[in-house]
Amino acid sequence: MTRRRWIADHWDEATATLIGEQAGHLVRVLRAQTGMEYDIVAGGRVWHGVIARISPEEVRFNLVAEVAADPALPVTLLISIFKFDRMEWAIEKATELGVQAIVPVVARRSEKHLALAAEKRVERWRRIAHEAAQQSRRADVPLIEEPASLKLAARNAPDSVRLVLAEQERGTTLRQMVSELLIAAGDEVPSIRVAIGPEGGWAPDEAALLDAEGWRPVSLGPRILRAETAAIAAMSVIAAMLE
Ligand code: SAH
Repeated sequence: MTRRRWIADHWDEATATLIGEQAGHLVRVLRAQTGMEYDIVAGGRVWHGVIARISPEEVRFNLVAEVAADPALPVTLLISIFKFDRMEWAIEKATELGVQAIVPVVARRSEKHLALAAEKRVERWRRIAHEAAQQSRRADVPLIEEPASLKLAARNAPDSVRLVLAEQERGTTLRQMVSELLIAAGDEVPSIRVAIGPEGGWAPDEAALLDAEGWRPVSLGPRILRAETAAIAAMSVIAAMLE
């Protein structure tokens, strides 16, 4: 029996609470009653929750026992900002596929007006990730970071494996690279950062910067994928190899 899963707005070690529109939906649409049971995500873990108290704006659960939860994939996607509707679709799909974090990147060929508007879109992107995490019954919500310049994003997390999706790369495929990493890593799984360029692709100086920062180019095959397709394909290849 799979209980519907909610991601708590507030929690402590014994209780968890939904507020606002989540509570409203549970009370008005799902006609919540005390005693009803749901899965509750709180503090990155999943609990068997039982409704203990209901008010129009708040539903409080007692956390009865922890439920086994599958962790996110240790994958961070650096997504160069591109057409928002397609980018939001990529954020939703990458969340379903288990991405741990997404860094929106201002690339040289990101359209200027999108780069400028990105700061204001981050809250919306976080809401999309939250809803997709809930729908896909994840135990956590992927972190959507503040938009960053490629230079800054390329330098973060120096201990992660860094792979840049390069459409012109013909040498190594993502699959080959990940299988080499798994062999080298032994039993612990390396955390992997994957950088995806904008619709116009990486500019030459960006490719040089990424190369200088140790990002290894990998191919997703001979066809040119849209950025959102590349995000989904990369997540799928890595998920298939790590899970
Ligand atoms: N300017 C390119 C298209 C860029 S597609 C052209 O038209 O030739 C947007 C991004 O998706 C690329 O920067 C790359 O990161 C990724 N991508 C697309 N197809 C890919 C492939 N076959 N292999 C690896 N990455 C790819």
